[in-house]
Amino acid sequence: MNKPADIHSTETIALWIDGKKQAATSKRFGDVTNPANGTTVRRVPLCNSADINAAVAAAQAAFPEWRATPSIRRARILTRFRELLEAHRQDFTRLITEEHGKTLADAAGSLQRGIEVVEFASGVPHLLKGEHAEDVGRGIDCHSMLQPIGVCAGITPFNFPVMVPLWMFPVAIACGNTFVLKPSEKVPSASMLMAELFKEAGLPDGVFNVVHGDKEAVDAILTHADIKALSFVGSTPIAKYVYETAARHGKRVQALGGAKNHAVVLPDADLDFTADALIGAGYVSAGERCMAISAVVAVGDAGDALVEKIRMKAAKLPIGPGDQHGVEMGPLITRVHRDKVASYIDKGVSEGAKLVLDGRGAKVAGHEQGFFLGASLFDHVTPEMTIYKDEIFGPVLVVLRVNTFDEAIELVNSNPYGNGTAIFTRSGGAARRFQNEIEVGMVGVNVPIPVPMAFFSFGGWKNSLFGDLHVHGMEGVTFYTRTKVVTTRWPAGDVAAPGLNMPTLG
Ligand code: NAD
Repeated sequence: MNKPADIHSTETIALWIDGKKQAATSKRFGDVTNPANGTTVRRVPLCNSADINAAVAAAQAAFPEWRATPSIRRARILTRFRELLEAHRQDFTRLITEEHGKTLADAAGSLQRGIEVVEFASGVPHLLKGEHAEDVGRGIDCHSMLQPIGVCAGITPFNFPVMVPLWMFPVAIACGNTFVLKPSEKVPSASMLMAELFKEAGLPDGVFNVVHGDKEAVDAILTHADIKALSFVGSTPIAKYVYETAARHGKRVQALGGAKNHAVVLPDADLDFTADALIGAGYVSAGERCMAISAVVAVGDAGDALVEKIRMKAAKLPIGPGDQHGVEMGPLITRVHRDKVASYIDKGVSEGAKLVLDGRGAKVAGHEQGFFLGASLFDHVTPEMTIYKDEIFGPVLVVLRVNTFDEAIELVNSNPYGNGTAIFTRSGGAARRFQNEIEVGMVGVNVPIPVPMAFFSFGGWKNSLFGDLHVHGMEGVTFYTRTKVVTTRWPAGDVAAPGLNMPTLG
């Protein structure tokens, strides 16, 4: 295989089709930028439908043989892939930090979460066992089988260049499907490295393919007749569009969308612990996590002390390039996005929220062209304000004040998003009520970012997920398989021929 150093050139990135790099036929390209200094590091092709057709054709051709490969052999290739991902940790973290901007430590953590999905998928022979019942009728047995669907596709966002693709394709491929991945055009390189390593692990050509691009490529995927299932992660408007379009074209779809994650802080919470947790959950990775806490709901008299503790800690958060030692918060993904987040801060001020920490104007010496913003904190935000209603996806934390726990639950449940939430309290009773009544898919109790491990499933509720099934864990296996139920009789001379009517007795 090519050394990762080859990928680290300023060349145009290739597609990965049928086990090798191929140039796109499309003549449209996008720039991949290093957000810490604003320079273009490589170019990415923006695929047209001919490029998508080529990738799907390779995946379709590889499907019959891969489907027939015993699951234990598929699992062994995944185990080897996991070992290679681990061996290339530094290459991945470097690529993630270079194209996304997050710190190397945060990149390493996200890689680890992805590797755990590969680990989960390596147990697939056990996960694909169906059910069996003897004598469901006289002399009749019944069993169910989980079978692959065919060509599956994944479309992923910029904020987790490795982890989110790994939520999808290891599980799909372990189940016997073939796959076409379209990573975010802002962070395309890590997916190419994964493809090379998967081949090195023994994956047959065509089972995993990588294409690049924007809406044109996405639309070609959504409407392609040979793609049977589609996994999407991204913003809510695009998730809804993807869900509706792909479903209209006969695919099963899981489309995970955006978020507005609340932390409810009760007056009995340990406020130092809570403030530390909220700094990590609100600002690290520049707030560009779908599970980032973006709204704090301070109950009763928790507010004043909590806001002051967050302000003091956030003001000292070291900002800079993600590969620099000691940095805790890197840049935002693009100049356009940085300016959009800054305009939300302007809007919050004009709508009357109290800006207690202003991250606009943050400068990083030697990186003046980087897309940096400092941490910002708003207090006395109300539910009608734009900075509460919109997903800002930046290092901006808003604090709302409520008088009672009931009001806090009502506020969270009224929000159209339902990805993650957390409660901070010392009361087991309050925590138990919260987890029971809250209408959100992933809940933390004194855990600010309650991302489920790979052997549970990840997904939100309401406008944070279109579709029924979450990613990875058993819901991932369910998504990437079809159930077939077989009813069997082996008639011997002593068994009466079946009657003509539906039987009324077993
Ligand atoms: P995005 O919606 O802009 O892009 C996601 C994918 O859709 C990309 O591959 C992109 O190329 C494609 N895309 C963009 N615009 C499109 C269009 N008009 N038509 C068709 N396809 C299009 O999201 P992003 O900015 O890359 O990522 C950030 C968003 O993702 C945030 O809203 C965040 O909350 C969400 N996210 C959600 C989860 C989750 O688990 N729910 C996880 C990570 C990120």
